[in-house]
Amino acid sequence: MKRTKISRLFDPGLLGSEVSVKGWVRTRRGNKHVQFVALNDGSTIRNMQIVFDMSQFTDEQLKPITTGASIHVTGLLVESMGKGQTCEVQARTLEVYGTADPDTYPLQKKGHTLEFLREKAHLRPRTNTFGAILRVRSALAFAIHSFFNERGFTYLHTPLITASDCEGAGAMFQVTTLDLNDIPRNDDGKVDYSSDFFGKPTALTVSGQLEGELGATALGEIYTFGPTFRAENSNTPRHLSEFWMIEPEMAFYDITDNMELAEDFVKYCITYALDHCRDDIDFLAQMYDKDLVERLQFVVHNDFVRLTYTEGVDILLKSGKKFEFPVYWGADLQSEHERYLVEEHFRKPVILTDYPKEIKAFYMKQNEDGRTVRAMDVLFPKIGEIIGGSQREESLEKLSARIAELGIPEKDVWWYLDTRRFGSVPHSGFGLGFERLVLFVTGMSNIRDVIPFP
Ligand code: ATP
Ligand code: MN
Repeated sequence: MKRTKISRLFDPGLLGSEVSVKGWVRTRRGNKHVQFVALNDGSTIRNMQIVFDMSQFTDEQLKPITTGASIHVTGLLVESMGKGQTCEVQARTLEVYGTADPDTYPLQKKGHTLEFLREKAHLRPRTNTFGAILRVRSALAFAIHSFFNERGFTYLHTPLITASDCEGAGAMFQVTTLDLNDIPRNDDGKVDYSSDFFGKPTALTVSGQLEGELGATALGEIYTFGPTFRAENSNTPRHLSEFWMIEPEMAFYDITDNMELAEDFVKYCITYALDHCRDDIDFLAQMYDKDLVERLQFVVHNDFVRLTYTEGVDILLKSGKKFEFPVYWGADLQSEHERYLVEEHFRKPVILTDYPKEIKAFYMKQNEDGRTVRAMDVLFPKIGEIIGGSQREESLEKLSARIAELGIPEKDVWWYLDTRRFGSVPHSGFGLGFERLVLFVTGMSNIRDVIPFP
């Protein structure tokens, strides 16, 4: 008999049929007449109750069925009299695949703290919490692809190992095959990269954007979705050194088109998760964050507030609130400032635009005022910045001038400047940190808890 996943067993059409179910034991309880096993196979947060009539099984047979053991049961799927479940399996046969010694298996049934589970990262996917998070994460990844696919975007794969280090989004992890105990040096004492694998210094990517622009100025609308690496001080609940980023880049979009796309995009993903992962989200809400569902629905049903950085700074200055980091025009906003605007002032997601050019990247479109650029950051409750983007500078002249001003060597960016040299168009794009979206949708508060292996 073929195995049926537990998620499917709750389909009322299967009641009264003989089924085969496989999974890991969560708990076993009962008495000498009847034993109940809660079985989970990872397909759903819900456990299937397996009922063992002890006139047909021996104590010896059930002894290995402890928390964490893996078993295969066949039996009749019937309506359940018990509280909290709609159906159960009356066991007919039992096969134990693998035992889990109660003295050494770390995930006993009592609730563990998230800190404890971070130490047991190799086993934590077997807990209810991480099962739920990982299913939501997977559904969100699917939603992302379907959103862009429905709109005719091309999925572009940008390199992970790169020699372009001018993005400036964060410190990079160097990639080398040089023998670190015996580094070849030039006459001037500098490292001789000519004998390195690529013949020059290379690193893991901090963003696929620049290559994304090459795609957008050929294919029209592209998106990337892949691993990103930043060797920054990531000792915060919102930074990882290895994370996933989604970076759409669109020809013929101005900043307003860009904001509209960003807002539609996050709303689509959240709606998808609410529609397809409701059991998991309800579980996480009940365990960690009572307002989760309400917050998700609120974001889906409300327009994001749009205002400029300058207006935002004014509000912060007038708030009378004491912040850890000082607020002044020109300051890079910290998460506490972003969250004040979102959670206390507007009580809505906010899109801040037109930041001072000094705190933003070189490629952003320069405004007439000479002081600001056409940047846009989307700020969310509990998270702060979830998206960073901009309209890009399409003028070769202005972009070259900015590059020279910042001292970026032309030999590193000639290929990028070719997009402006030949058939340049107005265009825009943004980056969404995937784990920040998963954080928001799951209601978790530490980014280490929404990636399988932080
Ligand atoms: P922050 O100010 O929060 O460090 P950033 O300005 O460095 O963000 P961008 O370079 O604009 O971020 O990157 C785009 C998006 O990638 C951010 O809006 C955020 O969602 C995500 N992101 C950036 N750095 C990290 C990180 N270290 N870990 C996880 N996500 C990140
Ligand atoms: Mn950063």
